[in-house]
Amino acid sequence: MTLALQGTGVSSGIAIGPVHIMRRDALEIIEYTLEEERIEEEIHRFHSALEMAKQHLQRIREQIPVHTRSDIVAFIDTHLLMLDDSTLSKVPVQLIQQHRCNAEWALKLQRDALVKVFDEMDDPYLRTRRDDVDHVVNNVLRILLNSPVYHQVGHHQEHRLTGHIIIADDLSPADAVLMQHQGIGGFVTERGGPTSHTAILARSLGIPAIVGLHHAQAFLSDHETIIIDGRRGTLIGSPDTQILQHYLFAKRQEQLLQEEHRRNRDLPAVSLDGTPISLNANIELPEDLHLTLQTSAEGVGLYRTEYLFMNRDEPPTEEEQFEVYRTIVERLDGKPLTIRTLDLGADKQIDGSTPNNLTNPALGLRAIRLCLKEPALFFPQLRAIYRASAYGPVRLMLPMISSTQELIQILRHLDSVRHQLSNHAIPFDPALPIGGMIEVPAAAINAEMLGEYLDFFSIGTNDLIQYTLAIDRIDDEVNYLYDPLHPAVLKLIGMTVAAGNKLGIPVTMCGEMAGDMRYTRLLLGLGLRNFSMHPNSIAEVKRIIAQSDVYLLAEQVTRLLHATSHEAFHTALNALTALH
Ligand code: PEP
Ligand code: MG
Repeated sequence: MTLALQGTGVSSGIAIGPVHIMRRDALEIIEYTLEEERIEEEIHRFHSALEMAKQHLQRIREQIPVHTRSDIVAFIDTHLLMLDDSTLSKVPVQLIQQHRCNAEWALKLQRDALVKVFDEMDDPYLRTRRDDVDHVVNNVLRILLNSPVYHQVGHHQEHRLTGHIIIADDLSPADAVLMQHQGIGGFVTERGGPTSHTAILARSLGIPAIVGLHHAQAFLSDHETIIIDGRRGTLIGSPDTQILQHYLFAKRQEQLLQEEHRRNRDLPAVSLDGTPISLNANIELPEDLHLTLQTSAEGVGLYRTEYLFMNRDEPPTEEEQFEVYRTIVERLDGKPLTIRTLDLGADKQIDGSTPNNLTNPALGLRAIRLCLKEPALFFPQLRAIYRASAYGPVRLMLPMISSTQELIQILRHLDSVRHQLSNHAIPFDPALPIGGMIEVPAAAINAEMLGEYLDFFSIGTNDLIQYTLAIDRIDDEVNYLYDPLHPAVLKLIGMTVAAGNKLGIPVTMCGEMAGDMRYTRLLLGLGLRNFSMHPNSIAEVKRIIAQSDVYLLAEQVTRLLHATSHEAFHTALNALTALH
């Protein structure tokens, strides 16, 4: 009988193939007390296990093909560094001494303490860093317990895994790299989230993957044929002929589409009626640039710098930031880099801690408000951005702007930064464009007034939707109300575009809506001509643009924005999405 299971699709693509279950027995860790004279011996045993785990990872690192991208190797290096970190190399030794306990128990205590910290984090990205702790610690525990180390994916298996779909409770980034090298068709894990390193790697490596599919191993057996759809997160077991045919056809269509995207890579984004559209990439880490450079992105429309400030005790210095920004500018080789100033607070805390729960953090001291309150945080970044602008086109973008007073204050700061740099004969671009994000309803409504102080607008729909509809974007309970197509949201986008057109300043959109092909026609109809999105979405959005007549769409959108009833709105919306 056909079986359908649902997980979280994290790397799109359809894979059809036999199952290979990677089973690891749960680690059973028991505590025992040591005689005083055995403590040194136990510490030695712990150190040897650490050393073996390192050697094991180093061997995997050496097996990565030479042409593999440096950021993929970096994932393995992160695990190697973690093994050297005192939290894993020294604290367990202290615990062995303090509790006179066995090494496994000490390591387990330390793992539990670390995992607890990660679990309490509000940021989903940081919360998944607990997976890294788990992967690294479990490998050491397996060595200590003498259980077969999990990496069944050794070279001896080269051919056995070709075309197989791996089902595991969890996979480390190292596993993903090796398995791709061995030609697996895709993988499914019972645990993990969309922002885990393994999920990110699957996307970079182009392996169809599903995570968080609980009990997958219990439902499947080795060698049976399954289908996975990495976009939708669906797994189908024992498919009948009809289903199999359907997916074989879908897989072929997908391949054809990929080929079309590759062929069209260097074509400009132009609509059916000849309107040029600018497509740009969003990046979070400098490593994301590699993916961007493989697309036809005209530049980076949003560089979220906050990730540079996370997971560390001290914020990066001006010099460190300058080096990072300059490197990206140089790698972009003449394409513009839009650097957004620090957008910390609410869901993005520097140390991953829970925001002050006495207030409503999304409405509190975050983003530009925090920067204006903490000049010691803001000024080094502003100086670093200006300094990087001497090496190629840079644009500075301000998050969460809500009033002209804020802008006036920031512009004064920028003046003083320019003076400081000039006085020290430090080169920078004096005409560096300053843009403001429109992500608070007040900013959209008042865009005309704000635009007097700015060179461009960039609509942040993720926050604009949250604030317009009063829905916490990270609260699962109200997620169902998060609606990019809400008439109020569309009106605010329309108002921002109109204000930009009136003032003659470009309007970009860099929220998730810009990269969702379901909304491309609507946004074109609303007058949007500049989009910034995850690099992986660029090809699809470009394809929709090539099939769209923006004048026809604009007429439909006018009807949509003037709809006075729910029915009229939805009729206009349906007509619009059906249109080319
Ligand atoms: C947005 O709010 O749409 C946006 C792009 O900013 P972030 O998602 O980083 O808050
Ligand atoms: Mg935002």
